[in-house]
Amino acid sequence: MIGIILLGAPGSGKGVLANFLKNKYNLKHISTGDIFRNILNSNNEFSFLIKKYIDSGKLVPDEITIKILEINILKNNCSNGYVIDGFPRSIVQAQALDNMIKKNNLKIDFVINISIDDKILINRIINRRICSKCGISYNILTMPPKKDNLCDVCNEKLIQRSDDNEKVFNERLKQYYYYADSLIEFYKKSSYLFINLDGSMGNKNFDFVSKIIDNCN
Ligand code: ADP
Ligand code: ZN
Repeated sequence: MIGIILLGAPGSGKGVLANFLKNKYNLKHISTGDIFRNILNSNNEFSFLIKKYIDSGKLVPDEITIKILEINILKNNCSNGYVIDGFPRSIVQAQALDNMIKKNNLKIDFVINISIDDKILINRIINRRICSKCGISYNILTMPPKKDNLCDVCNEKLIQRSDDNEKVFNERLKQYYYYADSLIEFYKKSSYLFINLDGSMGNKNFDFVSKIIDNCN
């Protein structure tokens, strides 16, 4: 099994890379952002708990996020491999993830950190559209779908995330930087293989990452 964790700013390309790795290595893809958006859309008793955080670009409290991740790790049966994107975003979450992984007889092999200049991010965020069904993201300028406004995979309508606007994005970026350095330090000190990517390379990183993973397996 392969266990992969992705770190990076909003818009750095975590979701697109996760989707590539999921398909290439037949992994379960767990994205806390996607999970939260599904909870919001389903309008259940948890929706109101998380709405104010997502809408303002703040982090959902660790207690809720950790619980939700654990439920999804169990539900998805990750024993054949997984890629987690959007978690951890704090040291408390990173420690909780280590415990969860051990408890469930899984392992972390690679921590991939995507570094990128802030100036590139805002344009990506504003031009981003996601599939209303599977959550895959497109960029209307650089990575458009084959058919106008429809997902290549499920043919469903593409939408713009309500938090993909300049104001909320700035808050998301602030939240990211608050923990970014300490998280990178945490994983550089760990026994997992730490891979740093230049996010401006976009899809060119796919080959680079695959070679490293293939060499280690
Ligand atoms: P981004 O593109 O900003 O990385 P995500 O889709 O990963 O966005 O997350 C969207 C929102 O969901 C975040 O702004 C935050 O409110 C919430 N969220 C996602 N993952 C976490 C997490 N690990 N801890 C706390 N909040 C999270
Ligand atoms: Zn889709």
